[in-house]
Amino acid sequence: MADKRAVLIIVDGMGDRPLIDHDYKTPLEYANTPNMDRLAKGGLVGLLDPISPGVRPGSDVANLALFGYDPAKYYTGRGPLEALGAGIDLGPNDIAFRANFATVDDDFRVEDRRAGRIRKGASKLAKSVGEIKVESVPGIKTIFKPTVDHRAVLVLRGEKLSRNVTDTDPQEEGLKLVISRATDGSEEAKRTAAAVNEFVKRSHEALREHPLNQERANDGEKPANIVLTRGAGTRPALPSFKSMFDLRGACISGTALIKGIASAAGIDVIDVRGATGSVKTDYEAKAKAVIEGAKDKNFVVVHVKAPDIAGHDSDFKSKVRALEEVDTLVGHVIDEVDIGANYVALVSDHATPVGYGHHTGDPVPVVIAGPDVPASRVLKLSEASASRGNLGRIRGLDLMPILIDLVGRSRLYGS
Ligand SMILES: [Zn+2]
Repeated sequence: MADKRAVLIIVDGMGDRPLIDHDYKTPLEYANTPNMDRLAKGGLVGLLDPISPGVRPGSDVANLALFGYDPAKYYTGRGPLEALGAGIDLGPNDIAFRANFATVDDDFRVEDRRAGRIRKGASKLAKSVGEIKVESVPGIKTIFKPTVDHRAVLVLRGEKLSRNVTDTDPQEEGLKLVISRATDGSEEAKRTAAAVNEFVKRSHEALREHPLNQERANDGEKPANIVLTRGAGTRPALPSFKSMFDLRGACISGTALIKGIASAAGIDVIDVRGATGSVKTDYEAKAKAVIEGAKDKNFVVVHVKAPDIAGHDSDFKSKVRALEEVDTLVGHVIDEVDIGANYVALVSDHATPVGYGHHTGDPVPVVIAGPDVPASRVLKLSEASASRGNLGRIRGLDLMPILIDLVGRSRLYGS
């Protein structure tokens, strides 16, 4: 029997809610998505609760669940996943943080958490930040690496550190920078919080007069004059994907988080030129990589970020456009993967409704197409049609077991 394969397409933030001023349609209903609709019509269609009904998931826990790892058991913070995805080889004692370039005023009030989303020059800023030495806490090395747009990762390396420290990012504009504190009384957490606070202070000193910020000011852009930190964590101990599911996996994504989950799981990360993890990504190059990757792997995950960004930006038009572009990727994939013999699944990791600008706890559409699955006969993939589909309602953690059963790699439960 030929090795059956599966491709999982994760459309970040695809789920949405109906909008009154768009004829009560969601972006997915509004978008022209003939390829997703084709998958849906002949496949299993249903709703998926990323974690469980009503839980608003972060992308980290939602994607861990989709990859088959129970976040309740394995999640150790967002920072380490981002750091792994950025290619930092995390040691067991390292503490990793998500970081972002932001704009603060003279009172350290956060004017823009993303410094207007940095499209160019982040590596120059990162170079200056990378030279920061923490002096108040001896024996600590800092590693700083930019990822996508305004995003970066910070790693503290040294003895006696702890992940039990709070964020410096207030998570809301108009609020002041937060001083990091130890959440337990430990010496380790106090040392870590002190190191973080010094690092953030020094980032402001390094960035405030930075030449790139002079340039940004000349272009009427906000200065990226501080680094905010959040999501402290240590490297998660994931059992390998191979040992969990008996599959040889490959992953294609522009975002550090997804690459990090893949690498923590021992899944090969395929780097695709042009896959940016941003709004302008090269879907054709991604599709080619999926097809190439599928040759010696039997499980390929491809993740696309753009719809989530449009959701966070509350931009209906750009979400519709992003979904239509994702649809062209789906088209390339189903042309090449042969869904008469292999499986293509498409799911969203969570909803990011444009009317809200943040993740909500709604269930999201999920489609599984391939041999021997009953056809849903759904004509147009949408949140509403998925609720009437033939797969019913599943949870994020259910997806991998269903897929490995379909590809014939599921172990018998009982005897
Ligand atoms: Zn999001």
